[in-house]
Amino acid sequence: MKIDIHELTNKSEVTFKGEQIVSLLGLNLSSSTHNCIVNIEGTVTKKGSRYLVRGHISSVIKLVCDRCIKEFEYPIHAELNKEFSSNFNEVNEDEDIIQITQSSIELSDVIAEALYLSVPMKCLCNDDCKGICNVCGENLNEHTCNCQDSDIDPRLEKLKNIFHPQSEE
Ligand SMILES: [Zn+2]
Ligand SMILES: [Zn+2]
Repeated sequence: MKIDIHELTNKSEVTFKGEQIVSLLGLNLSSSTHNCIVNIEGTVTKKGSRYLVRGHISSVIKLVCDRCIKEFEYPIHAELNKEFSSNFNEVNEDEDIIQITQSSIELSDVIAEALYLSVPMKCLCNDDCKGICNVCGENLNEHTCNCQDSDIDPRLEKLKNIFHPQSEE
């Protein structure tokens, strides 16, 4: 998304609103969607040769739950707060000021970065997700199964006795 800053020659602030498609391929998500639509709105404030962009992005992305491997929708909300400058001498990576040229501010990378940072490291459809049964593969959020403790491997049963000897007198 590009913001036209021509208007800022005789104004100190402009608002913007729009949407952008962001590719999710770089995130290696195991979901069926490869991109998402991000809604963006905010303001650009001009101060000399500097432009401060403040805004909010929102989107809904599809993730696959790490526990039950079901796809679920995850809402994204993030703040944008980035400074740009048209003066090369002010551009400084340490201070995180991005150089712009002439008449517009390119926000695509800033938007994609804010989205990527909002994607959780651990994907859970719900904090209480019960996952799937190791034995029958049933999604335990949707159904219960009778596997539970009924078939502990007899070899494991023996191991259990090694670690917890029964004769403890
Ligand atoms: Zn889940
Ligand atoms: Zn089961």
